[in-house]
Formats: sequence, structure tokens, C-alpha cells
Amino acid sequence: MLVKESIYNCVWYVSVRVGVEGQAWSWRRRLFAWGEDEVRELIFLLQSVSLQVYKIDTWHWKSETSQVFSVRSAYKLQASHLIGVSTVAVTTLWNKHVPLKVVLFAWRLFRDRLPTKDNLLRRGVIPYDSRLCIAECNTVETSTHLFLHCPTFGAVWYLLLRWLGFSIALPLGVVDHFNQFSLDGGNVKARGAILHAIWFVTTWEIWKERNNRLFNGKHSSIFNVVDKIKSLAFMWLQFMWLQKLQTTWNLW
Ligand SMILES: [Zn+2]
Repeated sequence: MLVKESIYNCVWYVSVRVGVEGQAWSWRRRLFAWGEDEVRELIFLLQSVSLQVYKIDTWHWKSETSQVFSVRSAYKLQASHLIGVSTVAVTTLWNKHVPLKVVLFAWRLFRDRLPTKDNLLRRGVIPYDSRLCIAECNTVETSTHLFLHCPTFGAVWYLLLRWLGFSIALPLGVVDHFNQFSLDGGNVKARGAILHAIWFVTTWEIWKERNNRLFNGKHSSIFNVVDKIKSLAFMWLQFMWLQKLQTTWNLW
């Protein structure tokens, strides 16, 4: 009987408080594309909630055996929900030589949460006519296009790989690219960490160059972008790995 009541309450809660597909909720602003996905996920989760009328509400954090919230477990939970079949190992994200803002930027990139034009178009922020890549390659600006396959911005990888002395085929997605790029470090810890940092710097500089062209009308050549990547990577890495490897700017 109690079970039946709970199910009844739950159905009532979902249908009255939430509405079909959440129509009963009102939002202060239009939801972003990922917000809509999260609402759908929330509704799905609510449908399995069984409300107990005579029980006092308490908070439980399921991702810790102690049921007490911790940032570490929340982070692991997020990492396990990365979009797509490919995932990024959590340990590789926390590169202490890379500024936190850049790690967070990469995190958003892995989840396709950057305000690229395809995402903005989906949210209704920009008109259809503004969807194309700023490099005038006549292609819609998606994250994979901008960071990998654009004839202009993608050329950065070609120049960098030539500098690093190895080659990889460009995979379809950025997550695969990140994993593949750092694999070339093999089992050498220092090399792996350096390649990770270079990947972070490269995507960061591509994004800055794209924003500079888009919002400031300023345009650097791809060779300049590559030079900036090399200097920034050297600056980030010099205090630990480069000293250990006894690499100087002239050898870099
Ligand atoms: Zn392009």
C-alpha cells in the first residue's frame, strides 16, 4: 500500500510540478543547448524518485561510501560522463604546469561546451548566416572543425608536429586527438607531460586567435600562432620538466 502511495505521489509530483517534459517549470532566461539536455536528464531521474510522505528529507551523496559530498568524487562523476565513446583520463587533465583556466577551457572543449558558432546557432544566439568559420573556409564552425580540420587553424598542428618530429593522422574528435597526441610520449613521464601541456597551449592559442579575429578584427599568421604556442609552452614547462631534461630556449 505504501509502495502504491509512493508511486502515486511520484507520478503526481512529476506530472503536476514538472509537467510533461518540464513545461511546468519557468526559466529566467532561455536555456542553453546543454541546459535543455540537463533538464531532460533531470526529468528522467525524477521519474525514478519514490517520495515517502512520512519520512524526513535528508541529503545523501551516492558517489562516496560515506555518503558525504566531496569535490573529488564529484569530479570523478563528471569525468565518467564525458560525451562520446572516447574519454580523457582524469589524471591527464590535472597538469600542474597548465593554468587552471586553460584546463577548464579544455574540459569544456572535451564536452563540446565552448560557445562555438554551431552551439550558438542551436541556442538561437546567432543567426544562420553567421554560422561559418572565421577563417573563410566556408564550413560551419564546430569544435572539431575549428580545432582539428579547418584548413587554416588545423595547419597549426601540422607545423607543430613537424617541430616535434612525429606525425599522427587527425582523428575525428578532439578527445581522440588529445589521447593520441600524448601517446607519442610512450612511457616517458616527462615527455607525456610536455606533450599534454603543448596540446593544452595549442587549443588555447587557437581559441584566442579565433576570438581575436572574430571580435577584434585582428589577424595573426599561423606561423605567429605557432611561435606563441612554443613560447607559452616553454614558460609553463621550464621550471620542472625542461630543467630536468636540461633543455634551454635555444634547444626548445
Ligand atoms: Zn575553418
